Amino acid sequence: MITIGVLALQGAVKEHLDRLNSLPDVAGLAVKKAADLNNIDGLILPGGESTTIGKLLREFNLSPILIDKINRGLPVWGTCAGMILLAKAIIGEETRHLGVMDICVRRNAYGSQLDSFATELVIPKVSSSPVPLVFIRAPYVEETGKDVQILARVDGKIVAVEQGNMLATAFHPELTDDLTFHRYFAEKVRKNKNSEK
Ligand code: GLN
Repeated sequence: MITIGVLALQGAVKEHLDRLNSLPDVAGLAVKKAADLNNIDGLILPGGESTTIGKLLREFNLSPILIDKINRGLPVWGTCAGMILLAKAIIGEETRHLGVMDICVRRNAYGSQLDSFATELVIPKVSSSPVPLVFIRAPYVEETGKDVQILARVDGKIVAVEQGNMLATAFHPELTDDLTFHRYFAEKVRKNKNSEK
């Protein structure tokens, strides 16, 4: 059994927990305080409003412990606002939040016309069949460091990346009933847990 936390300060928390709890041998846990971080094998940073979540992370003094855990190898997956929280830089802004992943992201990158849209794509590292992708006022990645693997592009824009223990997607698998990405992340968490034994 593995336990995967979902940072529960704001955003699409319940949807992630529901998806996690529908996987075999996976328990989802809402993470609200530092002590919860001791009871998880991996963590999802959900979509929502990155400015708000970032502010709450600082107010509750969760950032330093979270950065430390991620730097020590805790598997983490950021979806949409979660991707922004992980990024080492946000284009046009001076703030950054956790700043642990070697990516530069642009917020609300698709402009008003394409504010929200859905598509589907085969992402070879994740699955051989097409995965539905839902974008809501999504960011995309403009620059990646040398250790970052690009998993997917939509219209030439980078929308899914991986760097060691960190996974980030500009889209929201938790808002679809496709479990491919949750399964992929759970597998990553399981492998990490087994390697620590
Ligand atoms: N636009 C939001 C932000 O910049 C992200 C949107 C989302 O998570 N769906 O934080």
